[in-house]
Amino acid sequence: MENIKEKAEYCLNCKLKPCSQKGCPLHNNIPDFIHQIKEENFYKAYEILSETTVLPGICGRICPHQEQCQGSCVRGIKGEPVSIGDMEAFVFDYVIKNGYSLKKCWKKENQNKKQKTKKVAIIGGGPAGLTCAAFLARKDVKVTIYEKYNKLGGLLTHGIPEFRLSKEIVEKTISNILELGIEVKYNSEIGKNIKLEELREEYDAVILSIGANIPLKMGVKGENLTGVLYANELLEHKSHPDYKEKTVFVIGGGNVAIDAARTVKKLGAKEVKVIYRRSEEQMPASKKEVEEALNENVDFLYQTNILQIIGKDKVEKAELIKTELIKKEGEERLIPKNIDNSNYTLEADYIIMALGSKPAEYVKGLGLELNERGNIKINENYQTSDSKIFAIGDLIGGKKTVAWAAYTGRKVAARVGDKWQPYF
Ligand code: SF4
Repeated sequence: MENIKEKAEYCLNCKLKPCSQKGCPLHNNIPDFIHQIKEENFYKAYEILSETTVLPGICGRICPHQEQCQGSCVRGIKGEPVSIGDMEAFVFDYVIKNGYSLKKCWKKENQNKKQKTKKVAIIGGGPAGLTCAAFLARKDVKVTIYEKYNKLGGLLTHGIPEFRLSKEIVEKTISNILELGIEVKYNSEIGKNIKLEELREEYDAVILSIGANIPLKMGVKGENLTGVLYANELLEHKSHPDYKEKTVFVIGGGNVAIDAARTVKKLGAKEVKVIYRRSEEQMPASKKEVEEALNENVDFLYQTNILQIIGKDKVEKAELIKTELIKKEGEERLIPKNIDNSNYTLEADYIIMALGSKPAEYVKGLGLELNERGNIKINENYQTSDSKIFAIGDLIGGKKTVAWAAYTGRKVAARVGDKWQPYF
């Protein structure tokens, strides 16, 4: 407790709130909740956070704080930034341990509300869907989540490994949200046992939050060999081969690449190399995660591209090439370009691709307009080409962080819940 108060005292309570306004994708009121920690009003701190987020225990632990809120912190200009993530996680843990909850926190405003009259179906119970469900329930909308697995959480449950986010915290977060009176229909998947057209008829609005978890392929020679694996599938289904005494390359530079590399190393791989075609500074993965990976003896090959995967029936080697970073007209970031004659081969047993992901194939058959990247096209109200159907989270493309996905869930709840009255 003393430690957390010390962390809070370090905050300058800046008037312009760059941590909230510039850094935090959810625009959490950071200085105000920290101020309540200084006063030891932890319930009040939670109430302030609950205005914008229902995932503080999760975002406090897994957000790339150095690049988000803490990256914009004024204290960070000359020294260490305020430990915003630690305090956010502390507040959640404290209130849940002491029997406080979202239901109690939001109870006062619901007391005089009329009975639930509107019904909304949310397809997919990941961070975006859960956040949307909570903020709609707060507005007294009757919410049903249709979830394809027998557990909610999306990538929080089926993607992010336990060493980075404990399932206990995820479960506490989910129960806190469900206590608001949200119904869940498990093992329900569009195209298998539920139909979008039927839900569209039954509900006042349908919100699609089914993520985008189909791995992107690289298209290099040898990608079809046995031993080429895809990071998000491995993390989702946890069906790994035996890595003992094996050399594994992970291709990509995001958090999924680092999660996969650390998982494989923990599962006993002899050598794990993350291969990324841009520079270390350009790597989108959280700096903290990269540090952890380095501490666990994961190697990094920056400015390196993969040209082909070589092997008879299974992966035996990879042909790699060095890259230089060049300025290209119309591009903000420097672009990697292969350096002629800098190619070489390295032996490997498994190659794990972590190049990003796209929506499931069946999304094309939903009859909704898609954008050029295959994501569902939405307007400023997160409404699809069918005015009764909305889409949020990774399904619409975008920043692909948990906080950003949650933000889209909160925004659509505000539109559908009450502000956007013409809809109902
Ligand atoms: Fe506190 Fe940093 Fe936010 Fe200023 S920018 S209010 S010091 S957390």
